[in-house]
Order: sequence, then C-alpha cells, then structure tokens
Amino acid sequence: MKRVRIGEPDPRFGRMLLEQFGGANGELAAAMQYSIQGLNCEDPGRKDLLMDIGTEELSHLEIVGTLARMHLNPMKKWRTAAEADPLIAIAGGGGVALHNSQDNPWTADYLKITGDLAVDLRSNIAAEARAKIVYERLINFCDDPGTKDALQFLMTREITHMKAFMVALDTMGMDPLDVGAIPPTPELVTTFFNDSSGQGDLGEADLRGPWNEDGVKYVESPVKPIAEGTAEEVAKEITQSVNKRARKSASRR
Ligand code: MN
Ligand code: MN
Repeated sequence: MKRVRIGEPDPRFGRMLLEQFGGANGELAAAMQYSIQGLNCEDPGRKDLLMDIGTEELSHLEIVGTLARMHLNPMKKWRTAAEADPLIAIAGGGGVALHNSQDNPWTADYLKITGDLAVDLRSNIAAEARAKIVYERLINFCDDPGTKDALQFLMTREITHMKAFMVALDTMGMDPLDVGAIPPTPELVTTFFNDSSGQGDLGEADLRGPWNEDGVKYVESPVKPIAEGTAEEVAKEITQSVNKRARKSASRR
C-alpha cells in the first residue's frame, strides 16, 4: 500500500480531489468498469488483465479517498473550512461519501460496458487518457509536495494501464475499423458530408484535411443551396426572423 502524507490540509483542494473518488473518470468508475467487463469477458488472458487492473483501481480509490479525507479534515471543526463543502461538513461530518467534486452522487451511468471486448478496450484506453489529464490538472493546482507525490503515482499508473489496454487491443489483430460483425454499406461509408458551412461569424470555414481528402468522396451539404447568399443577406434574414418571433411572443403576453 502506498503511504500517503500531506502537509497543511486544504479543504478546498480536498473537494477537487473528490472528482477522482466519485466522479465520472474517477477510481471507483474505473474499478467497476474493468471488473464488470472482466466478468463478461470470454478471452481468459484479457479477462485476467481486466480483473488485474480493475482491482488495482480499487487500491487507487483507497489512496485518493485517504488523500481527500486528510484535506477535508479541518471541516470537522472549523466553520471556514466547512464552507468549502457544506454537504460534506454537515451531512458527512468531514468524511468522504461517493460524490464528485460538485457533490453529485456516483452513478453506474458512468460505466461504459458494451459486451464487445474490442469496443470495451477502446473505451478503457479513452478512460485512462481522461483520468491522466484530470490528475495532471490536480497536480497543477497543488502546492503540497506529499499530495503531489501521491498524485504523480496515480497519474503514472494510468499511462501504464493505457499501454496494457492498447497492447491487448492491438494483439487482437483487428483492423481499427472492424467494429462488430455487420459490414458497413459500401460507398456510403467512404462519403464525407461538408455539413457545417458558412462564412465568418455565420459559420465554420470549410477546411480540408486527410479526414475529408484521402480515400473519401467529399459531398457538399444538401441544405447548403437554401442558405446561400452574401453574409449580410443571411444575417439580415436571421435578424428579421428573430425579431418576428419576439414580436409574436410579446403579443401573446
Ligand atoms: Mn487509477
Ligand atoms: Mn487506470
């Protein structure tokens, strides 16, 4: 078990830490997501991988929960500290419950479990990337060396997990676009629609890149002809219709 030591408790930072305790990309969500995916997994090697990392995430929950508890501790006694999070101070007595940094309760809705191993592994790679970036932001908002040390440890492990999930996915030997069993419709699958268009403040510049150039057919948006006209004409039309609607709702009152 990693030893967690902190200097001066910082209740407001303790509240931020709760994002990794009971939040969408937090340690409980990771532990549950990988463990339940593991229960569903029929590939013995990857099942073991999911169970290993799922269990490790539970140990991270313990670390981040311990860290948060230490920072929230002054809430037990001090009114100013209690103001950092009235719910924790009043209902929780300064202890952690499964909430995120905004006091929203943890929910199983955070979990991405599809029953398709390759799809699940992709979700996990993305989940590790999100957890990594949240830890990085916590580190950047923290001055306490002991807290930083624990967060650096937790952040590093997410990259380790990300790598393991990537290798597990790559070695399944599937083309990255092979998702599920039913093949996509030919031609439609290689068509790119230029659906967001317009000029200046009235739209997005139409830019080209490998995503809409290489091996794809570039098609202008079917709604574009309706919206044609100079930028001024389009702006005038929008203003008129907004004013018309405002007059209508005013007359109804
Ligand atoms: Mn973790
Ligand atoms: Mn992880």
